[in-house]
Amino acid sequence: MLEPYKTGMLKTCDFLVIGSGLAGLAYALKVAERGHVVVISKTEAPLTNTAMAQGGIAAVMSAEDSFESHIKDTLVAGAGLCRRDIVEKVVQSAPDRVEDLIKWGVEFDIEDGSISKINLGREGGHSHRRILHVQDHTGAEIHSELLKKARSHKNIEIFEGYFAVDLILSRDFNPREVGSPRCLGAYVFNKSQKQIIEFYSRFTMLATGGAGKTYLYTSNWSGATGDGIAMAYRAGCRVANLEFMQFHPTCLYHPGERNFLITEALRGEGAELINSEGEAFTKKFHPQGSLAPRDIVARSIDAEMKRTGAECVYLDITHQSAGYLTERFPLIYKRCMQFGIDMTKQPIPVVPAAHYLCGGILTDWNSRTDIQGLLACGENACTGLHGANRLASNSLLECLVFSNNAAEYSLKNFEDFSVKTFTEHGYKNFPDQNEDEMIVISHMWDEIRRLMWNYVGIVRSNRRLSRAKTRLDNILSEVQEFYGSARLHPDIIELRNIALVAHLSVRCALKRRESRGIHYNLDYPFTSQEPLSEDTIINP
Ligand SMILES: Cc1cc2nc3c(=O)[nH]c(=O)nc-3n(C[C@H](O)[C@H](O)[C@H](O)COP(=O)(O)OP(=O)(O)OC[C@H]3O[C@@H](n4cnc5c(N)ncnc54)[C@H](O)[C@@H]3O)c2cc1C
Repeated sequence: MLEPYKTGMLKTCDFLVIGSGLAGLAYALKVAERGHVVVISKTEAPLTNTAMAQGGIAAVMSAEDSFESHIKDTLVAGAGLCRRDIVEKVVQSAPDRVEDLIKWGVEFDIEDGSISKINLGREGGHSHRRILHVQDHTGAEIHSELLKKARSHKNIEIFEGYFAVDLILSRDFNPREVGSPRCLGAYVFNKSQKQIIEFYSRFTMLATGGAGKTYLYTSNWSGATGDGIAMAYRAGCRVANLEFMQFHPTCLYHPGERNFLITEALRGEGAELINSEGEAFTKKFHPQGSLAPRDIVARSIDAEMKRTGAECVYLDITHQSAGYLTERFPLIYKRCMQFGIDMTKQPIPVVPAAHYLCGGILTDWNSRTDIQGLLACGENACTGLHGANRLASNSLLECLVFSNNAAEYSLKNFEDFSVKTFTEHGYKNFPDQNEDEMIVISHMWDEIRRLMWNYVGIVRSNRRLSRAKTRLDNILSEVQEFYGSARLHPDIIELRNIALVAHLSVRCALKRRESRGIHYNLDYPFTSQEPLSEDTIINP
């Protein structure tokens, strides 16, 4: 007999940060000067997409480069859907945000031992070398430095294994409240104690990352289930552009490894994509070949795999010396070797996989959402920077810029937002649950991820999308019903979230009657010119 979970604990803080990735930690470090910060993470704090980032972070750092060029590259990748004002401001603030990282202890690769000369990498879609990196494990380095700083900060508490389930709204306690509710904090499930704890705060920051796990194949960590997007939508925030899931063209293809990314930087250093017949094929699809924007490269691979019937394509960098490759890409070299693939001598088998969600919770320059006191930044936000496709290495930058903006806003408006607590418990209790139901959960998980992969993948059609929508309508109501009667468990919380985020993504995809950026629909193969394309916004 399972024990019902307990309720009733309450904690307060000034800033509640949901997520311990780059967005959450950078915000926490900036606001900690002013008050008590609680950072929660649903598993161990280092398990994040941030720590998996390989390539690096984009910023204009050399005299040969210019803001205009970075802005132009971002706008081109975004396929007419970026907000130009946002792009300009982000690009212009990038060098300052890189300075923040350096101050926090991140040591980027340098040239000739001179700290004033940072080694800049090149990636697809960038017209200059502008990617700051730490070999091929940039994200892990950034993350470990920031986490170290946060752990030792006297005003920051980090709670690991604390799972945010829903946001607490002022309306929960006053259903007759009119106008926009205020976010007061979050209902958080403590996994080890099996207890809901109510965290109350002045500001609540959603920094829960992406939603790659809505797809069968993904480069994301296993907790990338779109929780922040689902929580915000349930609370009444608008979400937008969820049809724009970027598929990374090159994830390692091996039965023993499902989500290891082969960084774009490899193509930046001359790696060529070849098909199973040994032919370099990408120039057939775009003049920039293997360095074309990601959506084009992913679609080229998809088309080539369908044409040849092969299960993967190959990335060949054997023209570079073994010494250079092991020095520049030690992580990739080591991981490939674990599977018997020696990248210095043979091409690496690769396939595309769901990688980065360009859409999310609609936010403004200060990371404000539609709900007062609720902020969102990082991959779970839709800021206007990426438009219909993200330029490589602009996402770590986005985390830094928007967490900084959010921090400035929070510090400036600190006194206007008090901490309000309610002793009356606001979250429903759950009855016991039948163990067999865990099997149902894993079936539903699998079904959602497969149908998203098959019907809402790299190439879409109206028929596939409608089929996905019909099935997801049913799944969503099954999950709701199930959730209402099941005992709280992390798998159920995540299932409820991926079902909702998948459903919202299909609704966005059906709304867009054109192909643009990473959204490609066979029934509308062209990018619409008139009227000007807009964000696909879903109102709560
Ligand atoms: C393999 C890989 C390589 C990449 N390479 C690059 C690159 O080179 N350059 C680049 O710019 N971008 C890259 N990206 C993208 C970039 O890493 C991410 O977009 C970025 O790190 C997202 O940061 P974040 O803080 O928003 O989320 P994350 O870093 O994913 O952190 C999310 C946090 O939220 C927590 N969380 C989630 N749900 C809950 C919940 N319900 N309750 C409590 N906590 C919760 C998680 O525990 C985690 O701590 C890469 C991504 C991947 C997957």
